[in-house]
Amino acid sequence: MRHVLPMLAAVLLAVCTASHALPDESADPSSADAILDRADAIKIADFQTFGRLVDDLAKRDAKLASLQHWRLRFLQGWRYTWIGDYENGRKALEEVADNATDSVLRFRATATLINLLGVGHRYQEAFVRLGQLQDLMPSIRDRKARFQGLGEASQLLSSAGQFEQAEAYAREMMDNPPPGQTNCIGAQHLLRAQREANRLKTLDPMYIRAIEVCDATGNDVFADTMRADIAAFQLGQGKAAEAVKLLTESRDGLRTLNYPALLTEYDATLAQAYLKLGDLANARRFGLSAVAGSIKGEFTDPRRMGYWVLYEVERRLGNAQAALNYHEEYMQADKAYLNDVSARSLAFQIVDQQLLARKAEVDALNKQNEILRLTGALDRKEVETGRLYIVVLLASLGAIGWLLLWLRRSQLRFMKLARRDGLTGICNREHFVDQAQRVLAYGARSDRGACLILFDLDHFKAVNDTYGHAVGDEVLKRAVDVCRRALHACDVFGRLGGEEFAVLLPDCSPAQARARAEQLRLSIAATSATQARPNLMATASFGIASTTQCGFELHRLLVVADAALYRAKRAGRNCVFMGDTGDIPDSPYLTEARG
Ligand code: GH3
Ligand code: MG
Ligand code: MG
Repeated sequence: MRHVLPMLAAVLLAVCTASHALPDESADPSSADAILDRADAIKIADFQTFGRLVDDLAKRDAKLASLQHWRLRFLQGWRYTWIGDYENGRKALEEVADNATDSVLRFRATATLINLLGVGHRYQEAFVRLGQLQDLMPSIRDRKARFQGLGEASQLLSSAGQFEQAEAYAREMMDNPPPGQTNCIGAQHLLRAQREANRLKTLDPMYIRAIEVCDATGNDVFADTMRADIAAFQLGQGKAAEAVKLLTESRDGLRTLNYPALLTEYDATLAQAYLKLGDLANARRFGLSAVAGSIKGEFTDPRRMGYWVLYEVERRLGNAQAALNYHEEYMQADKAYLNDVSARSLAFQIVDQQLLARKAEVDALNKQNEILRLTGALDRKEVETGRLYIVVLLASLGAIGWLLLWLRRSQLRFMKLARRDGLTGICNREHFVDQAQRVLAYGARSDRGACLILFDLDHFKAVNDTYGHAVGDEVLKRAVDVCRRALHACDVFGRLGGEEFAVLLPDCSPAQARARAEQLRLSIAATSATQARPNLMATASFGIASTTQCGFELHRLLVVADAALYRAKRAGRNCVFMGDTGDIPDSPYLTEARG
């Protein structure tokens, strides 16, 4: 997110460190300390003068005291980061974070570095730095520095799915803002962490008050970020019209802030909301805007959602070729986005375990040394309790050995988990796409046809609304179990999202696929949807695409199967529809196939 997140970085830095060290009026203004204080204080408000002060001081660098040198280096690193020169920014900040004698300075450099590394997708390094930040945290009394560190830590942890810790840091920011700050920024971090964790059940009025505080204190970006989260929450609750209202009221103001990352979030949510309301013209308008506002080559959530809405709009309008093109873009954006999401959480797990392993190793080494020392002492004194102590030490050494072994095993488990859907245990969307593409590539080489079945549970929202989300989850698990029993070992089964699933059947004709889909449909319809409620039944609608129609490209198969599924829904649900060549009429492949 080369350009997108740096803006956020900039905002954070602006808010958190603008008036970090106020100049001491009584100090000699030409002294290095006074210049450093002044530069630090004005770096946002007067970036030009700040740059000049830093350049002037750099000429005197050789004569500066150690602390002054590191303060200068920090400001240089900050300045590089601000203008987007991440390579030099990283170098300077790493030097400060690793060498400065002053712990507050090390802390500030580390916090800034975490932001910079996250922006550059260097997640493992970011988490290593986060570990160092957390080690320093208890000793940091400087409230402004601490506030900045908490913000960076909360944001990075949220992005890696570590919501509890992210929330705890956000709460500290809310409860204890430094002088000159309010609960605005902490509330924004808390809201984002809660929404991403899917923990937001109702909207706490505290957030509305926090938006007012943000507005009143000129923290427009934070106010609008909270609006974006609230609108996305409303959309998830089926309140599309409310989401449109909230975003439309503040969108013009946001445009003047020149913060494209947030504007694309607005537009992606607006596009989905309009789609939900059946306003295809506006859905398309905001879908296009969400896509256009995203940086090319960067794969963010708004970008993939923008493409998804555009695909849906064209599909509903019957523009098959345009729909196919957008679906291709959507698939690409979706895959890259999911890769980034799992890269983040994997990086966290890996670093977390590395740190734990390192601690265990150090602990083991200390224990070995202690044993050696005591053995030497025993030779001389033969103290009985000493022997006992050695036995205890040896036992704990063994335990550490086990811990290291367990850590290595669980690292493998994490790699595996990243490919599974958390609720049902089958392939998640990303892994399904990988596996299906592999099977299709093999099918294309060996000229063996394959089929794709898509299915979606019927009226599932009503299940949630009537019985609650937990029962809805049970129904999903049950449906997956039922299907699993009917599938073959070589079939690829995945949850594409929500209550939509896909099965890729290798070496399978359209007629066989239809029979298999019928079997799945009947099994789902015949089994009670949860154990606790024998009378609660669920059904699903099915769409099928085959490689004889569509060729071996997964996204084509998905588009055709999706169109068939859509027809199955319109035909009254709980039925199976075959994909139609009319679903992609202008495809060159199909002309060939038909001829
Ligand atoms: P249709 O027959 O047209 O498919 O209607 P539907 O109600 O199934 O479709 P819709 O897409 O409107 O609703 C899908 C619902 O699935 C909305 C969402 O709240 C719910 N959902 C998505 N993921 C989960 C989940 O992991 N657990 C539960 N319990 N519900 C989920
Ligand atoms: Mg459904
Ligand atoms: Mg659905």
